[in-house]
Amino acid sequence: MYQADPNRYQEMEYRRTGHSGLMLPALSFGLWHNFGENNKFNNMQQLIFTAFDHGITHFDLANNYGPTPGAAEINFGKILHQDLKDYRDQLIISTKAGYEMWDGPYGNWGSRKSLLSSLDQSLNRLQLDYVDIFYHHRMDPETPLEETMLALAQAVKSGKALYVGLSNYDGPTLQRATELLDDLKVPFIINQNRYNLLDRTVEKNGLLSSVDDLQKGLITFSPLAQGQLTNRYLDGIPADSRIGHDPRFLNAKMLTSDKLAAIQKLNTMAVEHGITLAEMSLKWLLQKPEVTSVLIGSSKPDQIIDNIGVLAIADLTPVELAEIDHILAP
Ligand code: NDP
Repeated sequence: MYQADPNRYQEMEYRRTGHSGLMLPALSFGLWHNFGENNKFNNMQQLIFTAFDHGITHFDLANNYGPTPGAAEINFGKILHQDLKDYRDQLIISTKAGYEMWDGPYGNWGSRKSLLSSLDQSLNRLQLDYVDIFYHHRMDPETPLEETMLALAQAVKSGKALYVGLSNYDGPTLQRATELLDDLKVPFIINQNRYNLLDRTVEKNGLLSSVDDLQKGLITFSPLAQGQLTNRYLDGIPADSRIGHDPRFLNAKMLTSDKLAAIQKLNTMAVEHGITLAEMSLKWLLQKPEVTSVLIGSSKPDQIIDNIGVLAIADLTPVELAEIDHILAP
């Protein structure tokens, strides 16, 4: 029987999500990889327990996380049911809908039909009555934004979600969505976007400045560029790495020689400062005022412990930040 570490709240930092009442841990844990049908259930349990024992209270899912789609919610639901039932009120559990999930015209994008059906399916798989945050997973260029926002409002009104979030939105669409959600008095509090040393899209598409202007939270996914911003690939491609065994979204071709050379230089810089490349990459995000939480993934419990090391290191100085940008300059 799992018992959470009684000291779990001591080392973690909790941050306010935009202008809302919700505090999130500086590091949150995502179940995009390593929770599918091919993964060992015991390792999944150890990942969740390690995270929670270190104060990570937020677990992020989506309808389609697997493989097969839905498997991560089923596996997390089992762990919740078996081991974490007594801790439900200490957990923030999120899920999403918006990428292809089931056949036909209703299992994708942002219609009211799709979002609300998907949320019901997620709750069934998770064995929950409600999620803490329900996200629209990506912008839908064809469904009227008002319809999608009304569906999110309905998710909250029905008691199936406490808060709502938007994922992969750009600045202008976020602004229009915020107006609609404000009119509907929906607790829209957080954006989820990819942001890391190698991907600065949110700096260019208006998302980062809009988050700040609108006082919304921002949780950044793939902060380690799926493992590239760690020591994982410095000496080749290990068989047990994401590229080595699950190249659905990160493959050897994406790790170009130019990119690898820059990663080697970043690693040398980190080591010279007495920290790891993973810690430097996470710190770079955590010290940005717009960032509420950094959403990590891990295949091994030790990676979670390594990454939590970021909480004990000093902020990067302006000189160090300039050095990083110099290494990454095209
Ligand atoms: P990361 O960038 O943190 O990559 C995680 C991977 O990096 C791990 O699985 C592991 O890979 C490797 N790693 C992590 N820590 C270390 C370490 N200390 N040393 C060496 N290797 C390490 O995040 P993810 O790309 O996994 O994304 C995190 C979460 O973000 C997802 O689970 C999901 O919740 C969310 N997300 C949301 C999206 C959206 O559209 N909203 C899209 C994508 C992700 P390895 O297997 O090689 O060990």
